[in-house]
Amino acid sequence: MPEGHTLHRLARDLHGTFAGQVVEVSSPQGRFGAGAALLTDHELIEARAHGKHLFVEFAGDRVLHVHLGLIGTFTIDSAAYVGEQPVVGQVRCRIATDEHVGDLRGPMTCAVITPEQEDAVHAKLGPDPLRDTDGGPAWERIHRSRKSIAALLMEQDVLAGVGNVYRCEVLHRHQINPATPGERLKRASWDLIWADLRRLLPLGVATSRIVTVDEQIEQVESALAMGEDVHLAERTSYVYKRTGQECDRCGSQVKAKDVAGRVLYWCGNCQRRS
Ligand SMILES: [Zn+2]
Repeated sequence: MPEGHTLHRLARDLHGTFAGQVVEVSSPQGRFGAGAALLTDHELIEARAHGKHLFVEFAGDRVLHVHLGLIGTFTIDSAAYVGEQPVVGQVRCRIATDEHVGDLRGPMTCAVITPEQEDAVHAKLGPDPLRDTDGGPAWERIHRSRKSIAALLMEQDVLAGVGNVYRCEVLHRHQINPATPGERLKRASWDLIWADLRRLLPLGVATSRIVTVDEQIEQVESALAMGEDVHLAERTSYVYKRTGQECDRCGSQVKAKDVAGRVLYWCGNCQRRS
């Protein structure tokens, strides 16, 4: 399942490739034929994301709403490259110019909506660390809830765009017990979580990688500050998918269990704060 940084990266790439141009929209697979007919030959104005939702605004008050779900992909290639490739998978929606082709495959949602309907989607989503500066609306939900902070961080109407990897890693980074009920979480802990997500997710957009380990964070931040390319070693994490291995901080074994439908990884020894 893509996390929010993937959608913001995709919005940025779609915007950079197609914004300001009149594009052809089609549905090679056929299932989105009626929707594509509403968009084709219109100017693509802006692509933007909120959490895991992508909105592509076209002239004429038409918005393409996409949610990739578990298996969806949206790839952008040069038209020449796509023309030479064998057809792979079923393309639900294609956005094309003479130079570029964007192909959407396997989405959970692909629909043409109005600006008012887009507003309704935003209203149901919590703040997104990549879009919103104020995490207060998420705190309002969290501190009234008896659910664990580990479960609440996955609820898109509480906080939008954070998936399982960032959930596990941010709780470990601040030594917060994942089982802490929202109503017992300290405000200072939430402020640390929100500030850290505001720092970490942009690194994911910049690198298309989830970067949560201090040495890699510093490496990426300094490369970005210098305008240099980032070359990261293999992906590392503090707890995510490290079941049974030693915690970097305290040496205890990293634990795993299912919370809110996804495997939570944490250290039971050093994550004790609330
Ligand atoms: Zn530990």
